[in-house]
Amino acid sequence: MIHFGLSDEERQFRDLAHEFAENEIRPVAAELDEQEKFPEDICRKAWELGLMNCHVGEEWGGMGLSTLAECLIAEELGWGCTGVGTTLICNTLAEAPVIVAGSDAQKKKFLGRMTEEFGLCAYCVTEPAAGSDVQGLLTTARRAGSDFVLNGQKMWITNAGHADWFFVLAYTDKSKGYKGLSGFVVPADSDGVTLGKKEPKLGQRCSDTRAVIFNEVKVPAENMLGQEGDGWKAAMAAFDHSRPVVSSMAVGLARAALEYATAYAQERQTFGKPIAAHQGIAFLLAEMAAAIDAARLLVWKAAWTADQGMRNTQQAATAKLFAAETAMKAATDAVQVYGGYGYSREYPVEKLMRDAKIFQIYEGTSQIQKLIIARELFSR
Ligand SMILES: Cc1cc2nc3c(=O)[nH]c(=O)nc-3n(C[C@H](O)[C@H](O)[C@H](O)COP(=O)(O)OP(=O)(O)OC[C@H]3O[C@@H](n4cnc5c(N)ncnc54)[C@H](O)[C@@H]3O)c2cc1C
Repeated sequence: MIHFGLSDEERQFRDLAHEFAENEIRPVAAELDEQEKFPEDICRKAWELGLMNCHVGEEWGGMGLSTLAECLIAEELGWGCTGVGTTLICNTLAEAPVIVAGSDAQKKKFLGRMTEEFGLCAYCVTEPAAGSDVQGLLTTARRAGSDFVLNGQKMWITNAGHADWFFVLAYTDKSKGYKGLSGFVVPADSDGVTLGKKEPKLGQRCSDTRAVIFNEVKVPAENMLGQEGDGWKAAMAAFDHSRPVVSSMAVGLARAALEYATAYAQERQTFGKPIAAHQGIAFLLAEMAAAIDAARLLVWKAAWTADQGMRNTQQAATAKLFAAETAMKAATDAVQVYGGYGYSREYPVEKLMRDAKIFQIYEGTSQIQKLIIARELFSR
C-alpha cells in the first residue's frame, strides 16, 4: 500500500527540526554567511537535541532513525540555512562508511565518540586532481608492521578544520584499480596531518571546507574498515545513504525560495496590481511549487527504498539530480521575482542562489548523477 503520511515520531522530528531552524538558524544565518563564521554553537545545540548522528544505531549511542526521518530533519535544516545544514549533516556522510563496513569494535569507538559527546567527523575522498573520477586519486596507504602509513592530499573537505576524525580513501594496491582502494579512520590529531586554510566560497560560506594533507601519517591497521580493497564499496555505499539526505536540504532551500518569492509577489505592485497577478510571475511560482513537490517525492522514494534494505543507487542519484536542479532554479527564479531587490544582499534570496549552486557539485555533480542513472539503466 502506498501512503504519504508520516508517523507521529516522524512528525515530531520534523517539527523539532523546524523549530530549531526557525529559532536558532534563521536569525543568524545571514550574519554567519557574511562573516564566514563556523556555526559551532548551533552544532552543539543541535547535537544536544538529537538532530545530529541520527542514523547511528542505538547500540552505538545513536537514535537509529530511518533514512526518511533523517531526510525530514534535513529538509527543515536546509530551509533554515544550507550552510549550517551542510555542517550539521556532514557527520552522516563520514559515519556512513563506518556503519557499512566497520566492525563492532570500530563502531563502538568511532560512532560512540560522536554520540557520547559533541564531535564532528569528515569524509576525505576528493583530491586536487580527482573529484568526479574517484579512482584517479593518488593518496596511498602502505603497510608497515601493525600500521598503515598514509601519504597524499585531500581537497574540499567539509568540516575538516573541526573534525575529530576523518574517513580517508587511499590506495593500498594501485595495480588492482578500484579493488585496491581501502578505507581508514584517521584521528585528526595524528602526527603528519596538516590542514589547508578555510576555502573562501561562493555560498554556504559559514561551512568549513579545507584541504587535508597526510605526510607519513601512521594509522593502526585496526582503523582500516573491512579488508584491504573494501574502501571503494564503503565510500560509494555512503553516498547511497547520504544523497537522499543532502537532496532533502536542497528541497528545504527551494521551499524557502518559494515562500519568500510568494510573499513578495503578493506585496510588490507593478502596473496597478501585485506582481502575483501577472501570469508570468504566477506561473513561475506554480512551476517552482510543482518541482519542489516532485523533488520531495523522489527524495522520499530514495529514502524509503534504503529503509526497506533495498539497493537505492539509482533512486538516490535521481533524487540528488532533480533536487539539486530544482533548488538552483527555484533560488534563481526567486531572485527574478524580487527584481532588483533580489540582487541585493539586504534581501534573503541572493544567499539562497549562492547556496544552491553547491548542490549541483558536491556529493557527485549533476553530470555524475546522470552517469550513474544511465549506468543503472544499461546494467539491466
Ligand atoms: C563546498 C564543497 C564541499 C565539499 N565537501 C566534500 C567532502 O566533504 N568530502 C569530499 O570528499 N569531497 C567534497 N567536495 C568535493 C566535491 O565532491 C567535488 O568537487 C565534486 O565531486 C566534483 O569534483 P571536481 O571538483 O574535481 O570536479 P571535476 O571532477 O574536475 O569535474 C569538473 C566538471 O566536469 C564534469 N565532468 C567530470 N567528469 C565528467 C564525465 N565523465 N561526464 C560528464 N561530465 C563530467 C563535472 O560534472 C564538472 O562539471 C566538496 C566540494 C565543495 C566545493
